[in-house]
Amino acid sequence: SIRVRFAPSPTGMFHVGGARSALFNWAMARQSGGTFVLRIEDTDASRNSPEWTEGILSALAWLGMDGGEYEGPHFQSANAGRHAEAAERLRADGRAYYCDCTRDAIVARTGDSHKGYDGFCRDRGLEPGPGRALRFRTPDEGQTTVVDLLRGKPVFENALLEDFVIARADGSVTFLLANAVDDISQGITHVVRGEEHLSNAPKQQLLWDALGAEPPVWAHVPVIVNEKRQKLSKRRDKVALEDYRAEGYLAEAMRNYLMLLGWAPAGDREIVPWDEIVSEFRIEDVNTSPAFFDVKKLRAINGDYIRMLAPDAFAAACVPFLDAAPFDYDPAVFAQLAPLAQTRIGVLSEIVPMVDFAFLPAPVEDEASWAKAMKEPAAAVLAGAEEAYRDAPWNAEELKTRLEAVGAAHGLKLGKTQAPVRVAVTGRTVGLPLFESLEILGRETVLARIAAARA
Ligand code: GLU
Repeated sequence: SIRVRFAPSPTGMFHVGGARSALFNWAMARQSGGTFVLRIEDTDASRNSPEWTEGILSALAWLGMDGGEYEGPHFQSANAGRHAEAAERLRADGRAYYCDCTRDAIVARTGDSHKGYDGFCRDRGLEPGPGRALRFRTPDEGQTTVVDLLRGKPVFENALLEDFVIARADGSVTFLLANAVDDISQGITHVVRGEEHLSNAPKQQLLWDALGAEPPVWAHVPVIVNEKRQKLSKRRDKVALEDYRAEGYLAEAMRNYLMLLGWAPAGDREIVPWDEIVSEFRIEDVNTSPAFFDVKKLRAINGDYIRMLAPDAFAAACVPFLDAAPFDYDPAVFAQLAPLAQTRIGVLSEIVPMVDFAFLPAPVEDEASWAKAMKEPAAAVLAGAEEAYRDAPWNAEELKTRLEAVGAAHGLKLGKTQAPVRVAVTGRTVGLPLFESLEILGRETVLARIAAARA
């Protein structure tokens, strides 16, 4: 059965692109009864931190990638002995040689800083020593063909593959070797990873071969771009999965959306239950063109998932956001507001500005909303509302009818009549349905706020 792996380097916040690669691997393992290996590639001590590793583990668990077919985490740093052995074996077999060329010397000879290594040390027979790196001897002729499930069989001319470094002068092995050695020893059958690694595939396949292993099947999934068709980057775009989680994206929605980055289920569906995604996903069907990370679409999908939650589950999902809000909330009052909000929000954090009017001692003060709503004849509308609500039966229907009458007396439609009342009571120009909100808030508070707005 297949063994796939996700092999992130813990050098920063966990990226949505990493999550997408992990999910593709996960879906492949799950649908075929295979194994999903998590390997933390933590060999770059200067850029790693345990905090980033923690972030990866918690993100994978959040998205449901733990248990079942999961194996790991393995830590690449624990395999250093095996990496060194492989380097030594390649050297002993004549597949690798020591080289003392500096970058400057290479550029001076080739006259081009983009050209690869010129093979200067190939036949010098250098012994190991200070300042000497170990290079893999690539074939001069022939071609290396990799089998890529998305790209057919890309062919690489061996003559164009430089003799690349597998162990640096300080003895540390490079990504190319460590990654191949671990994939071999962990029995990986399919390497599914980002397109940025496609150019590494022929070099790594040569290493698999030289180490006596049957090369894997590859799949290099397309880059993810923003609305300007630029590659998603942490400087420009919101890429940290954690930021989406903190904003109130649901794991189910995130997982569904990320699977659609490059892949589409049959029949134009966007909201697809996870089990169906898993059974229908085919890595071969992933597109090779850049995948647009459409935050608007993600938000719409998230809103759909929010609406699918059972009322209790929705209220429970809001709790962390309410707990972090600058007010104490009354769960009984929130339980009344929650159904009104559930149909309206796209991300859970939006619950806070929607319900804060019910829990703050006074509505938020927002000059722009105030200026917009308190235009003539707002003063008269507020006076009329105060009067009409003093003895009104306290239910939404009646409150609406009464305010409608107040507006009509000034030739206003209901929408215009609502605005000053809404701002007086909630502080905002938009929010939950007004009359239900007033009913829940209660006569005393509503009248006090209208009076305060008139003062
Ligand atoms: N650690 C590498 C990365 O994060 C892994 C690449 C691979 O999947 O082979 O890009």
